[in-house]
Amino acid sequence: MIPPFDLKRQYAALKPELDSAIAGVLERGTFILGEEVVAFESEFAAYCGVSDAVGVGSGTEALHLALRACDIGPGDEVITVAHTAVATAAAIEIAGARPIFVDIDPQRWTLDPSQLEAAITPRTRAIIPVHLYGCAAELAPILDVARRHQLRVIEDCAQAHGARYHGHRVGRWGDLATFSFYPTKNLGAYGDGGAITTNDPELAERLRLLRQYGWAERYVSTLKGFNSRLDEMQAAILRVKLRHLDAWNARRRSLARTYGTLLRDAGLQLPLDPEEGAHVYHLYVIRTTRREALRAYLRENGIGTLIHYPIPIYLQPAYTDAGYGPGALPETEAAAAQVLSLPLYPELHEDEVKAVCDAITAFQHHA
Ligand SMILES: *Cc1c(COP(=O)(O)O)cnc(C)c1O
Repeated sequence: MIPPFDLKRQYAALKPELDSAIAGVLERGTFILGEEVVAFESEFAAYCGVSDAVGVGSGTEALHLALRACDIGPGDEVITVAHTAVATAAAIEIAGARPIFVDIDPQRWTLDPSQLEAAITPRTRAIIPVHLYGCAAELAPILDVARRHQLRVIEDCAQAHGARYHGHRVGRWGDLATFSFYPTKNLGAYGDGGAITTNDPELAERLRLLRQYGWAERYVSTLKGFNSRLDEMQAAILRVKLRHLDAWNARRRSLARTYGTLLRDAGLQLPLDPEEGAHVYHLYVIRTTRREALRAYLRENGIGTLIHYPIPIYLQPAYTDAGYGPGALPETEAAAAQVLSLPLYPELHEDEVKAVCDAITAFQHHA
């Protein structure tokens, strides 16, 4: 059996380091906003090449608080994509703003910059490009449009820890950038967690208040805040894992290369790495018009796959009020109908990748 992901393999490999980090937190007896969080924030900021990182409760909360820090709320519009985790749009609505969806680029599968200007109205305040599957969105034209229209850019980096754009890591291009440490992400905690990175110390300061009741000091709220903190245990775990992130991403790239070579002639659309070596393959996603049959065949052969994501956000029952019907964004809907995520994680073996490719090749030739 080859599962679509397997977190037990990673724990087995890092058990002594992780166990001692966790024991350290228990022994020190501080569980909220202590030395582990402070250390992780500075290590993660350095990793991303920014002045500040602020640890929060999840990737969704990172987006929500990033919008709040920019004073974005009711009456405002935020442009993003509908081919992403529902969390991207949910966070916009939690802030009280309205998500505006634009279509994706058919090759890169991220926000299509050529569709951006048509979506801007007097109410537009921000753009959230999503670095999907580990590939940076086409940021240069997005940042250019944002500058001309005085819009904030918040990068959704939940799937792209360590990915690069024009040679620099994501997380330092927008006004703010948000990360999720959900367990299966490239950098994952053992529970929920998230962070916001920025080079703007004022925004960082606002975020530090917003995540904890708006407290400037204990029991004195100078802002109306929330409770959304990264906890000490998760920070200690993330500090251990951050030291392995580059090696893991390199391993993901190497396995992706094997997939690319073995599936070259399989008649599928394969993922693009627009800048050689910049992609961090959070997911290895292929496209096929015979997805359901292929998926069933792989399942019968002991290979687990997932679909990221089967329904564009605006066609999901809770979001039909967003004002978009079927056919609204053709590239988004085509992707939703065709994408399939193959097993990919650093602990996956090369022969497992070969077995997946053999099964796909057999299916493509028989059916
Ligand atoms: C995982 C994810 C999120 C949400 O993160 P949580 O930590 O689960 O709240 C947001 N955006 C994208 C693109 C994601 O993949």
